[in-house]
Amino acid sequence: MKSETVSRRTFIHSSVAGMAGIICAPKAQTARCGDKAEKVLVYRNLGKTGLRLPVIGMGILSSATPSLMQAALDAGISHFDSTADPAQQMRNEKMIGEVLKGRRRESVIYGTKIHLPQDYKTGIYKSSATEKEFTRLLDAALRNLQMDYVDIVYHHMVSRKESAFHEPVMSAMSKAKKAGKARFLGLTTHSNVPEAVHAAVDSGFYEVVMAAYNPRQKDLAQVKKAIARAAASGLGVVAIKVIRGDADKGRQPVNARASLKWVLQDSNVHATVPGFSNFEEMKVDLSVMEDLSLNEAERSDVNREASGPGMFCQGCGQCLRSCSAELPIPDLMRSYMYAFGYHQTTLAQSLLQSLELPDHVCEDCSSCRVVCTNGWNVAEKIHDILRLRDASLEAEFPIA
Ligand code: SF4
Ligand code: SF4
Repeated sequence: MKSETVSRRTFIHSSVAGMAGIICAPKAQTARCGDKAEKVLVYRNLGKTGLRLPVIGMGILSSATPSLMQAALDAGISHFDSTADPAQQMRNEKMIGEVLKGRRRESVIYGTKIHLPQDYKTGIYKSSATEKEFTRLLDAALRNLQMDYVDIVYHHMVSRKESAFHEPVMSAMSKAKKAGKARFLGLTTHSNVPEAVHAAVDSGFYEVVMAAYNPRQKDLAQVKKAIARAAASGLGVVAIKVIRGDADKGRQPVNARASLKWVLQDSNVHATVPGFSNFEEMKVDLSVMEDLSLNEAERSDVNREASGPGMFCQGCGQCLRSCSAELPIPDLMRSYMYAFGYHQTTLAQSLLQSLELPDHVCEDCSSCRVVCTNGWNVAEKIHDILRLRDASLEAEFPIA
């Protein structure tokens, strides 16, 4: 693959347990470099942006700590991406700003997401999604980050073509770029991915797409095709929702290494930003670069995971039509995934609280009419996740 190179560099031994070994060759052979073993960071070009990124970056979750981010930097990671959860974003950005303070700004690539209110049923913007609000949120992010600019500003959570072309957002992004607040303009999509990615390409406006891409997607062939088109059109492609956290209750855990390798087998994917939240997960994610090829056991794990629903809500919206209370089920399932899949209870709670649910949820139904394309028992999952809505997170929240 043309844009891929293997860069020899030393991973500095950090506080990460077991990270002493470092990088030297694509097949993970260790080589001696003085007294240090050396490992490989694999880089790809981010489309035509001119940015060159390690294929594994860091998605900064609410549980990320300064020491974890510092360890990622020490390990050679230069690409960071923050959560777009409004309640967590400020805290995360302040932490990121502190960690990066004093570093050469050009030594890191930082992407941030701006999310404006949408109708959860249609994915179309509400009237409060204005240019002014987008600019206000971006300016606040820059202040929190103590940065003059972000490398990529993402138009977040696009699932409809109309939303990709939402004029107030495009105008705000365009002005931000002209004002030097953002180097590149991107779009993120978690559901209805093919439509959003094709819209990004057709717009001639976006330079990067960040798209959900994993073997469980029911429209995987179309996702793959859209991503190939984006890459061929010169857009940078960052894959997300690759690992999907732990498996659902009672199932075998997801093989994170195999999932990351699977997505990076597609040379149209230029980078990923797995949200590791501890040193052990970081070690696993970075080790992918030692050898991107899938061995037989990993291939079999990917196939097994692809055949089950796991934690991945397809975002197909089929449930919206059948729920008599018109609940925002995909958002509820996302909250479930944050809590039970990623163990990100604060993020899950913050999403739940933003949904403005009625006091009594599902209690008027004697039986649930929702048919989920994943085969999920939606009412059961809603019941499980709702325990978190008003829980005090000071106390231990029991996640079974
Ligand atoms: S029980 Fe099912 S149909 Fe009734 S409100 Fe809950 S999710 Fe909707
Ligand atoms: S039907 Fe199932 S997979 Fe589709 S959006 Fe609803 S919960 Fe998600």
